[in-house]
Amino acid sequence: MATWLKRAVTAEVRADADRKVRDIVEGILNDIESRGDEAVRELSVKFDGWDRSDYRLSDDEINQCIESLDKQAIHDIEFAQKQVRGFAEKQRKALQDIEVETTPGVILGHRNIPVNAAGCYVPGGKYPLLASAHMSVITAKVAGVPRVITCAPPFEGRPAPAIVAAQAMAGADAIYALGGVQAVGAMAIGTESIDPVDMLVGPGNAFVAEAKRQLFGRVGIDLFAGPTETMVIADETVDGEICATDLLGQAEHGPDSPAIMITDSEKLARDTMAEVERLLDILPTREIARQAWDNFGEVILCADHAEMLEVANDYANEHVQVMTGDDDYFLDNMTNYGALFIGPRTNVAYGDKVIGTNHTLPTKKAARYTGGLWVGKFLKTCTYQKVLSDEATTMMGEYCSRLCALEGFAGHGEQANIRVRRYGGRNVPY
Ligand code: NAD
Repeated sequence: MATWLKRAVTAEVRADADRKVRDIVEGILNDIESRGDEAVRELSVKFDGWDRSDYRLSDDEINQCIESLDKQAIHDIEFAQKQVRGFAEKQRKALQDIEVETTPGVILGHRNIPVNAAGCYVPGGKYPLLASAHMSVITAKVAGVPRVITCAPPFEGRPAPAIVAAQAMAGADAIYALGGVQAVGAMAIGTESIDPVDMLVGPGNAFVAEAKRQLFGRVGIDLFAGPTETMVIADETVDGEICATDLLGQAEHGPDSPAIMITDSEKLARDTMAEVERLLDILPTREIARQAWDNFGEVILCADHAEMLEVANDYANEHVQVMTGDDDYFLDNMTNYGALFIGPRTNVAYGDKVIGTNHTLPTKKAARYTGGLWVGKFLKTCTYQKVLSDEATTMMGEYCSRLCALEGFAGHGEQANIRVRRYGGRNVPY
């Protein structure tokens, strides 16, 4: 039986926080719906202290942001974008349209059609998360989306130059300096100055994730990608320092970011907890990481790898770092996770920033039913059918007619019957 050496705050505390966020977001979306740009402007002043008559950045402003970065920063962004684009292109190629003859004369197929317009949110309240620009804008473009717009909040009182550069270099068609619910609300609902999109993508804090959830249906969304979570699955093949570093590397995202350790070694569990305390004294982002660890940190001691796997699948965590003597066991058998980071030589920060897999990933157990953002999320897989011969339509028509009769659908049945009469030259005998 797994034992919790450290537990997170209770489910009731989390549910109460979720309820408050839900009510705030609902009020803001209603306001944008009824007052458009006027509401967006007021909300932007209220939440970000940011006021402009037009939130779209001009070409001059975009170029100034790019020119303000040094050559190394531009090179690094280019390198990361090349990795993300390269992997996305391979994933796109793997998604084939199909057309097959399933029965003589009956052709069935599907086409992968990109959405017409995507709105990509790039978070930037606490840190200017430029990597999210690569993850959503590039992926949308590789999928073939014709219109890709993007929003990020101002950071320290102005658009963050590195985010704007990444958005532009990724190929965005329009860049807006807007954050939070007002950004995703404006992109989805549309205002006098922003044409609505068909799909919202990108990560964000609890407000952004909840806004996307409430807007789903009116627009498509990629997935529920809220406050970052991380999990470390480790055994005695690694030490407490590397485990603690990987737990805090993601806990610094925000005070609501869970960091979970699962191990079958009590010594490693205790070493890791001691290392976390040591690092929390020196980490520059310790203020946030400390709150995350105190509230949402967990350390779980299991009997063996099989129990570690069972607990990990139950958590369905966003990022799962695996460092054990049998990493492939977890790769082969984990079923619920956003992304896996296999072995001590890789880590979540590589995936977040540079290696090429997408960092927009499911949180709050959404990994039970979805993976992360990828080109496939921007594509609608739409089917079609053709019937090429009189024999084929007559044969299908007779089956269809009988099945419609079982359901009591006379109108449906007649669609079949008329074809049996026209192409088969006979009446359906029932
Ligand atoms: P953010 O851009 O998501 O949110 C900032 C915005 O939140 C502000 O512009 C403001 O408008 C709004 N806001 C702040 N307080 C508010 C309030 N009380 N009411 C209404 N709106 C309010 O930036 P952030 O806050 O730094 O959060 C980024 C988040 O993205 C983190 O939680 C991080 O963990 C998460 N993230 C998730 C993934 C993923 O794939 N799941 C990836 C990267 C980042």
